[in-house]
Amino acid sequence: MVDITYSSTRGADEKLKASEAILNGLASDGGLYVPDHVPALDRNLKELSDMDYRGVAYEVMKLLLTDFTEEELRGCIAAAYDDKFDTEEIAPLAEACDAYFLELYHGATIAFKDMALSILPHLMTTAARKNNVKNEIVILTATSGDTGKAALAGFASVPGTKIIVFYPKDGVSPIQKQQMVTQQGDNTFVVGINGNFDNAQTGVKKLFSDKELAEWMNENNMQFSSANSINIGRLVPQIVYYVYAYTRLMKEERITEGAPINVVVPTGNFGNILAAYYAKEMGLPIAKLICASNENKVLYDFFSTGTYDRNREFILTSSPSMDILISSNLERLIYHICDNDAGKCRTLMELLTRTGRYDITDAMRAKLDSFVGGTCDEEMTLATIRSIFESCGYLIDTHTAVAAGVYKSYRAKTGDRTPTVIASTASPYKFTGSVLAAIDPGYASDDDFDKADRLYELSKVPIPKAVSEIRTAPIVHKTICEVDEMEKTVKGFLK
Ligand SMILES: *Cc1c(COP(=O)(O)O)cnc(C)c1O
Repeated sequence: MVDITYSSTRGADEKLKASEAILNGLASDGGLYVPDHVPALDRNLKELSDMDYRGVAYEVMKLLLTDFTEEELRGCIAAAYDDKFDTEEIAPLAEACDAYFLELYHGATIAFKDMALSILPHLMTTAARKNNVKNEIVILTATSGDTGKAALAGFASVPGTKIIVFYPKDGVSPIQKQQMVTQQGDNTFVVGINGNFDNAQTGVKKLFSDKELAEWMNENNMQFSSANSINIGRLVPQIVYYVYAYTRLMKEERITEGAPINVVVPTGNFGNILAAYYAKEMGLPIAKLICASNENKVLYDFFSTGTYDRNREFILTSSPSMDILISSNLERLIYHICDNDAGKCRTLMELLTRTGRYDITDAMRAKLDSFVGGTCDEEMTLATIRSIFESCGYLIDTHTAVAAGVYKSYRAKTGDRTPTVIASTASPYKFTGSVLAAIDPGYASDDDFDKADRLYELSKVPIPKAVSEIRTAPIVHKTICEVDEMEKTVKGFLK
């Protein structure tokens, strides 16, 4: 097998092995790590369709994480995709209303972030061992809700790691807060800050770049790392489920080997759909990559015009995990469509930082011909939840509804009848308030748990353990701090 090396999207000097890229997270020039080439699948689709999720995971991940041994990689996969998931399928496929919904929310925190964050801690500790890093790895994260809990669940009780999560004290939903402050595990620390998400994020970035703190950490045999979605260790595991979904369609004789499928992805930071793009580049027969945005439609505008422009109002929607104006992972796609030219990519990213916008050339646009952008507004999102529930008896969350709404418009406009997989990124119980407002607008209660009961009454979809168990779980994290006390708080935990 050919070894893959990783370099930055903004400079070609540094060449790293996969394990080193996972440990570093972000390149020192601010760019993201990209593989020097995208390897082709070396098993045919028929062989892959005879494997279970773990088997497919190994066949895909071995091609990109080439410096991990088979034993190491299979060990990471076995530790991640086990009974933390509430179904043996790990990522089951459900057919409803002319589409196949790939349910990526059967992990510990009922959102698709679990697919990557349940394996990242194992990849990271294995990477540390391979590179003779003796220090304990301390994950620092700022969260606006979903990532924090998924990272906590992934790293809880993993030997050789600690995790510290900062969240805005009054800026997350009651269920999200309850999920975090009840987190078990001696190596987990959760702190509410008196400030908003931006304060938390800026504070964490400052801690990462503080040289004195880094020295203090090193003297105490510790070092920081990041579980952010730009880590290549989060991207690679996400390629797996697209390959897996294809092989399930084959197995169920919905498609024949080699037949094209479309994929629709509700998009925020562009990580999930980028994984689908890599799957296509690896040889998976994907025709269209349909990128679905909510009312923050920067990406829709980008795919329709070739201009990326973040200078606009930030809109709060019912799909908060997609409320993003800078989609970090798009940088990797930009790098590939400028023929892996890091200089060109850097120029565009500097423009983005300086002016908030950039334009791509016609030659670059031509390379985006498999992408289709779509957008779905708030009204259509709720109408989609209602219509899929009423006509097909299938319940989806708000993020998935953005994708389903975009797909409906796409199908009507193009007449394209290619079998289509919609990435279903959260359980309807994660966004109970909005989902219930869509199917039972008359119901009134302030309590999210009452709403979950009502949703169960109407849909008979079982309430996931992630929701039922936090109802009565003891609160173990009570620390609150000011923005300028973050360093002191971190040192206090780590001593
Ligand atoms: C994070 C998230 C998304 C967006 O995924 P990206 O990889 O950031 O594009 C969509 N839906 C849910 C529920 C999420 O948590």
